[in-house]
Amino acid sequence: MVVPYKHEPFTDFSVETNKQKLLDALKEVEEGYGKEYPLIIGGERIMTEDKIKVVNPANKDEVLGYVSKANKELADKAIAVANETFEKKWRKSDPVFRADILFRAAAIVRRRKAEFTAHIIKEAGKPWKEADADIAEGIDFLEYYGRQMLRIKDGVEVESRPIENNRFDYIPLGVGLVISPWNFLFAIMTGTTVAAMVTGNTVLLKPASATPIIAYKLMEVLEEAGMPAGVVNYIPGPGSEVGDHLVDHPKTRFVSFTGSRDVGTRIFERAAVVHEGQKWLKRTIIEMGGKDTIVVDKEADLELAAQSIVQSAFGFSGQKCSACSRAVIHEDVYDQVKDRVVELTNELTVGNTSDPSNIYMGPVIDQAAYDKIMSYIQIGKEEGELLAGGTGDDTTGWFVQPTVFGNVDPKARIMQEEIFGPVVALSKGKDFDELIDIANNTEYGLTGAVITNNREHLEQAREDFMVGNLYFNRGCTAAIVGYQPFGGFNMSGTDSKAGGPDYLIQHMQGKTTSEQF
Ligand code: NAP
Repeated sequence: MVVPYKHEPFTDFSVETNKQKLLDALKEVEEGYGKEYPLIIGGERIMTEDKIKVVNPANKDEVLGYVSKANKELADKAIAVANETFEKKWRKSDPVFRADILFRAAAIVRRRKAEFTAHIIKEAGKPWKEADADIAEGIDFLEYYGRQMLRIKDGVEVESRPIENNRFDYIPLGVGLVISPWNFLFAIMTGTTVAAMVTGNTVLLKPASATPIIAYKLMEVLEEAGMPAGVVNYIPGPGSEVGDHLVDHPKTRFVSFTGSRDVGTRIFERAAVVHEGQKWLKRTIIEMGGKDTIVVDKEADLELAAQSIVQSAFGFSGQKCSACSRAVIHEDVYDQVKDRVVELTNELTVGNTSDPSNIYMGPVIDQAAYDKIMSYIQIGKEEGELLAGGTGDDTTGWFVQPTVFGNVDPKARIMQEEIFGPVVALSKGKDFDELIDIANNTEYGLTGAVITNNREHLEQAREDFMVGNLYFNRGCTAAIVGYQPFGGFNMSGTDSKAGGPDYLIQHMQGKTTSEQF
């Protein structure tokens, strides 16, 4: 009997034993630095000459390890193994067996939580709380998708006339390519991989090149939990090289991608092309970027508004697809909210997140991200009024100060383009209609929040604010698996709603069988 789903609680690091456990785990991670990691294809460990060097973004001199890189030849080998495993074994495997692997994997990660949390503090520079939440979300995906599979394993009831027996079942698709981003290096990578796998597909897992080690650790966990060889194959490597090749491959049946708009639209276009030997139209599940807005009405709790803006903009240095990168504020309360946002921003601490002192923000992920964010800060200085931050330091790690721009035109570039860093732009509107118009004026539609005490305005926003995840009187980040299914409209993606009741069937196809008596 499986107990009802409940999300994984967060760790309280003000409790001395919890803090000490994580400090010990961080030390252990450091002791393991410099290790070499192989690819895993069909259970076989393959070490390549060419490797990805993985560094701590808070301290470039700390080399976590060297991860083998797949090339086109190895990618072909992985797809052949995945295809054979699908046909010979996995597509007919018992859904209960598959769900049990996820439940056991969740238990293993829960037991090794401090080690996993410590690892991602180092691999992505995540602050402690954010790292803990990332691991908790990964556990949630394992627990939730396991239960969802048990719910859909027997199909859905359809009508039958007296002379027949009709059935409607969901069956797997085939070989899925899972391409994950570095920002939720454990949660999204785990969720997208196990959703594809628990539904009876075999998987090629290509993690982001900045954070491939945590994906290797997930492989070890899945193997320990009883996953047969060849079901998930681990093939890190540059997206530009193996990515296109695998997306184009005629044996790829579907692609599950989470990442930027540019790469997502490229995959969407390439997957639409039918190649020689291909027997299907490829399915794509594509989740991309955001330009997320918090709307502040004039009848609102202004302290809550300022706190929500600051937390949503600067948690994990703004490197969340759901991060608040724009706040649109009623002109009557603009100055009050702006002043408090600046005050709160100036209180934030930035530094190396291995440090146990209360570091709120760590580094950004790499040099390319640092350069991009700093160039947007330059653009912001021309487009608005710099109110806080505006500086960075890339000497030891890639650190950017939390930055606030005020009086920004709603059409300005920093109000329209995803920056993916700790930068928020503030704009004004004269009434609630205008606030919602501005909130909707980007090509994205991922998350948004409305801070108001006016019930009619909440209902208006429910209908007119076009985002996949809309929050009232809270910030616009931190969706919980099973509670707030997550996915965006428009150029934010295919609205697949990760962690929601419809997510798994996107990895399956419905089959009708009808027997006449
Ligand atoms: P990215 O640059 O698009 O990379 C994402 C993944 O795609 C990586 O594994 C990358 O591999 C791979 N890739 C790159 N080029 C490829 C190609 N031509 N073919 C196939 N795969 C390719 O995004 P990111 O910088 O990792 O992540 C940040 C972005 O993700 C932001 O835009 C953020 O908003 C978005 N995001 C969205 C959600 C959501 O749920 N909507 C969640 C998290 C993040 P390499 O690392 O080897 O280049």
